[in-house]
Amino acid sequence: MKFDINKIRSQFPILHQQVNGKPLVYFDNAATSQKPQVVIDAEVKYYNEINANIHRGVHHLSQVATDAYEESRIKIQNHINAKNSFEVLFTSGTTFGINLVANGFGQILKAGDEVIVSHLEHHSNIVPWQFACERSGATLKVIPMLQDGSLDMEAYQNLLTENTKIVAVNHISNALGVVNPIKFIIDKAHQVGAAVLVDGAQATPHLKPDVQDLDCDFYVFSGHKIGGPTGTGILYGKEAWLNKLPPYQGGGEMIKEVTFEKTTYACLPHKFEAGTPNIAGGIVLGVAIDYLNEIGFDNIAAYEQELLDYGMQQLSKLKGIEFYGTTAEKASVISFNFKGIHPYDVGAIIDKLGIAVRTGHHCAQPIMNYFDIPGTIRASFAFYNTKEEIDAMIEALKKAQMMLQ
Ligand code: PMP
Repeated sequence: MKFDINKIRSQFPILHQQVNGKPLVYFDNAATSQKPQVVIDAEVKYYNEINANIHRGVHHLSQVATDAYEESRIKIQNHINAKNSFEVLFTSGTTFGINLVANGFGQILKAGDEVIVSHLEHHSNIVPWQFACERSGATLKVIPMLQDGSLDMEAYQNLLTENTKIVAVNHISNALGVVNPIKFIIDKAHQVGAAVLVDGAQATPHLKPDVQDLDCDFYVFSGHKIGGPTGTGILYGKEAWLNKLPPYQGGGEMIKEVTFEKTTYACLPHKFEAGTPNIAGGIVLGVAIDYLNEIGFDNIAAYEQELLDYGMQQLSKLKGIEFYGTTAEKASVISFNFKGIHPYDVGAIIDKLGIAVRTGHHCAQPIMNYFDIPGTIRASFAFYNTKEEIDAMIEALKKAQMMLQ
């Protein structure tokens, strides 16, 4: 498909509305993405034509639903280049995926073991590891961040020891848009025998991860950030690790045999998929991934880079602006403030002008503490945004500045 922005925009019904009497400009894509018509239609089609529980029934609809769900798993396997489809687990999102892995590690770590996260993490890649460390007596270490928002790779290498058991880092930071040198991080961790979990929540909207090339042990992401439904997500795990980790939730589907004395567990992926899953969501996530691949991640990346460059250029002209996360390696996420003005005040005013940005700590309080700020204004662009929308945001920001200064 040729990159035709007008055609693409016509496929997102939600974008064509007025907010507070102004055309909606949706720049909160890092929080959640909007859904193309094919995704909305697929959700309706599932409930109109397919709905049945999976993996259990011999009846027709159950077979159709099971096939569609498992086909979607294979689609996602191909998308991330996993070696086996059973290494692809359906979850309810990134948060669930990280908790599943951290909970497992909490049971296999010992006192003296070490877990490494980075200063750039979303709370969902910090708190579950704190739980794991509290439970096991392991120690949590943090890769420091530098002034430009990049991670200190020298300090990282000094943190690694033979006690390091797992390194959990994001591929792209949600608060700053910084792209981390993930392959380097993985290689160095493997040199000391540590596993690596990559939080791909912010990477998957912009790029197609290749989990075999990265050689990560776990890769997690959320469906709702890539045009799919809320309550969907993927946890990729290497077969050996998924076999080693204990199950997360007990219930139907995840067992081989249950007696009151002892239960044995089902094989992968079912061992980690207890209960009736979000069947519609899993199927529709595959549709969303097809849609993105049809547009093409090369096209998406090139277009988003244009938006990022234009956005930075225009924002830089505003007086008193301060940017956070100024590394060269950036996704289309701009975090900024105006000197002496609270980010919430700016966000509230520009909302009245139809502009949706995120203001606050973006679930990354340690980053805000580092910069000694209460939060930032975050404009995050998707491939369906335009330069004209950036112009509208600039005008709105100028008005906000006038009112607040
Ligand atoms: N990690 C990162 C980097 C994120 O951006 C987010 C969502 N903002 C999460 C984890 C959590 O994702 P979810 O809320 O979809 O579970």
